[in-house]
Amino acid sequence: MSYPTQQFHPQIYIGGKWCDAQSDQRASIINPATEELLGEVAMAGKADVHAAVSAAVAAKAAWADTSGQVRAGYLRAIAQAVLAQRDQLAQLQTANNGKPLAEAAIDVEDVIATFNYYADLAAELDAEQDQQVSLPSSDYRANLRREPCGVVGLIVPWNFPMVTAAWKVAPALAAGCTVVLKPSEITPLPELALAAIIDQVRLPAGVFNLVTGSGAEVGAALVAHPGLSKVSFTGSTAIGSAVMKSAADDLKGVSLELGGKSAALVFADADIEAALDIVCGGIFFNCGQMCSATSRLLVDKSIAENFIARLKQRIETIVVGDPLASATQMGPITSAQQYQRVQQYIQQGLASGARLLTGGGRPADLLKGYFLAPTVFTEVPLDSAIWREEIFGPVLCVNTFDTEDEAVRIANDSDFGLVATLLTGDEQRAARVSAALQVGLVWVNSGQVIFPQTSWGGMKKSSIGRELGPWGMHAFQEIKHVISAVRK
Ligand code: NDP
Repeated sequence: MSYPTQQFHPQIYIGGKWCDAQSDQRASIINPATEELLGEVAMAGKADVHAAVSAAVAAKAAWADTSGQVRAGYLRAIAQAVLAQRDQLAQLQTANNGKPLAEAAIDVEDVIATFNYYADLAAELDAEQDQQVSLPSSDYRANLRREPCGVVGLIVPWNFPMVTAAWKVAPALAAGCTVVLKPSEITPLPELALAAIIDQVRLPAGVFNLVTGSGAEVGAALVAHPGLSKVSFTGSTAIGSAVMKSAADDLKGVSLELGGKSAALVFADADIEAALDIVCGGIFFNCGQMCSATSRLLVDKSIAENFIARLKQRIETIVVGDPLASATQMGPITSAQQYQRVQQYIQQGLASGARLLTGGGRPADLLKGYFLAPTVFTEVPLDSAIWREEIFGPVLCVNTFDTEDEAVRIANDSDFGLVATLLTGDEQRAARVSAALQVGLVWVNSGQVIFPQTSWGGMKKSSIGRELGPWGMHAFQEIKHVISAVRK
């Protein structure tokens, strides 16, 4: 199978038009599986950010005044157009990000489900508006209104480019906000394709704007722009903290979806065959480049020897290679920079005294592309960097536990608190441990399924706020109460 050759717009999208960035600079977009050039996109600057925010400000009042039903119509049209182009969109995402085509197809389905879900919520808004609140006094009446919070800046990373964008764009538009989206400079092509779809469905000019360019210039200028009411950011904890500091200068709202170092806990009473699949999926899906990667595995000591031996066997059969080939189970890391970063962590792991069980380098048959064999360390020191820091690559760190309390204590001993996976045949244990884990989402005997109806986000340094579900839309709404004295 050859790589997709379909065109993408190399320009930025402002005020309902494709336009050139004000500088002549362009960025090269690389296919991580081949290290070849996919194309070039505009490197926008501060002036372009200003133009995009101005277009969003100009469109704000009219979009906020549309009914939820009208906004729902646009969101459904976007979902339908994504559906109509799903194969091309999956291929484009694979070419730019490197994930296997089957995984890219799951992302596209998620984008469709997200736009449809927020279309439903937008449609319900009209009936919910001005709902009466029950009061302890009959002398007053109080009504609740939810209003769009204004112009919002949306900044997303490269690991799930279309999905992270959809999780922000769909609820923001549903709420009645106008938006400026900044994709990662590594993977802007899927978002440029989404912008083309939004253009195709004729969303009113200025409601959606997209500016490509670097985080340091475009991202920082967007966060600092006084025309924004709010910034919704998904990315690393370090940049999330910088975003929050900058937004604090003029007290903008922020929602942050940041890193993770999540745990999978395997108890002796688990279905071992299913647990092996779930553990592999939790760290090797998307080449481990998931905020929710369960990169710390805790196994009950009584089954550890056998479980780890079977895990090694299974991991060594994972097919790494061309992400367009149907047999491939793991593609390359998405960028040269991330490839280097993960390799540095592997060196740190070796230096820490952890035992390399499998992997650790480039598969011998893959001479080009940012490929790395699935890697596992056991006996990992609990104070080492590979145990404590987010690696964001296909590297699993394994330790054992004696008791349930110890498993929970080690799992919770992290700066992060995004998700956890719990593998046990005991329902009471599942309830107890789920309640004790300091995370935003627990999967029990399940792979990482995500529904637009349930929340996404975590505790501690993993998140501020929640995406998806009604919470994802509430993040883009202001609450207003109108209290009236009742005439008697
Ligand atoms: P980064 O924090 O490096 O970048 C995220 C986005 O922020 C990119 O668009 C980037 O632009 C932009 N950016 C960079 N610097 C600034 C700045 N100073 N001001 C404003 N924006 C800026 O993260 P990665 O792209 O490397 O993504 C990986 C991280 O994302 C991981 O930590 C992962 O855990 C997290 N993530 C969290 C998710 C969650 O739901 N909790 C989901 C997915 C990922 P550019 O790329 O152009 O530099």
